[in-house]
Amino acid sequence: MRKVNSLALKKTLSGKSIKEFIKYLAFIFTVLIVLTGATCTPIQIEEVLENPYQNYPYWYKVQTHAHSTRSDGSNGPGKVFYHYVQKDYRAMALTDHDIPCGIIFDDPLVDSEIIGIVYIPSEEDGDWGSEHMLAINLDPGLASNGPCGPEHEWPAQRRIDYVINQGGIAVLAHPYDSDHGWSENKILNDLDRFTGIEIFNPGQRGPGGGNNMRTINLWDRLLQQGRKVWGFSGDDCHDVDGDHFNLGWILVNSNKNAREYWEGENPKDPQEFRNDLVANIKLGNFLAMTRNYPPDGHGSTDTGPQVKIQTLGGIVSVSTEEISSKIRIIGNSGNILASARNKNGLSYTLTGEEKYLRVEVEQLKNGVEILAYSQPLMVKLN
Ligand SMILES: [Zn+2]
Ligand SMILES: [Zn+2]
Repeated sequence: MRKVNSLALKKTLSGKSIKEFIKYLAFIFTVLIVLTGATCTPIQIEEVLENPYQNYPYWYKVQTHAHSTRSDGSNGPGKVFYHYVQKDYRAMALTDHDIPCGIIFDDPLVDSEIIGIVYIPSEEDGDWGSEHMLAINLDPGLASNGPCGPEHEWPAQRRIDYVINQGGIAVLAHPYDSDHGWSENKILNDLDRFTGIEIFNPGQRGPGGGNNMRTINLWDRLLQQGRKVWGFSGDDCHDVDGDHFNLGWILVNSNKNAREYWEGENPKDPQEFRNDLVANIKLGNFLAMTRNYPPDGHGSTDTGPQVKIQTLGGIVSVSTEEISSKIRIIGNSGNILASARNKNGLSYTLTGEEKYLRVEVEQLKNGVEILAYSQPLMVKLN
């Protein structure tokens, strides 16, 4: 083959045809440059975007921060579960302080798990004077009697590692709480491996969002460093009849149909449903939701906006089933990169400058306003 080719080339290069051949080569190179420029650049941008959203058909409300009489809450665990399932929650990380995390409630309402909600073994780790951390999806097999979370006198990184190493989810709770919060410097520069931070906690609320807005700002600074950290929202509920109930939750995307775990003659094992939700939380396939306060939305079973986020050829597309009052795409340390009002979609084309993108969607329905925060889409390379 090589011989034939070199003979053919010699023939081509003889005489006048050399000039034409050079022209031909120049033409081919020009075409190649145009083609690669037009087709490859968007693919490269798409490849560097890490989209945690799987866009499965189901969304489930999950509470990741609540207390019962097992620690400093006012209601027994059964009552807590009962009230949350009434508001359409499908999983619950009951995060009492430093308690055994196994299902030892002595409460038939919870033990039976037939009420359409699953329990994720969890606790809120931390002493009265120390930094609080939500330790979610702990392994009750690790401790027969004592707390199966970390010891709260351990250094913070050791507490985080202990949770992560057993397949758990470590969330730094209410970072700006005056008694049990975290040092900004520690979060930004020292700690590693934590799954997320609590971007909304009713205890941090204040005028104009108070410390919750500071936490969102802290989250943006972490993301700008290229740190893949998820944002969580929870009630920190101590009394289901009080104000801090059904105000903050996460909405987990799943391909499991919850009905199959509680309905029909042969329902599937709810633990499989729980494990699926936990896996999707770890992946970042969930939204963090907050409801406005007031007016009263205490009784709302609304999930909030179910947001679809897709990436294609360097374009990020956001869509919601219903018209949303506001959609924002955020990046570059918290700047609004694109926004829309009263629409059910918004797109943004990457410029190559972004370290991450995240989405905020506001929905106003029957006087109840719910704000959804997406998890970040990290840009792996620039
Ligand atoms: Zn706390
Ligand atoms: Zn708490």
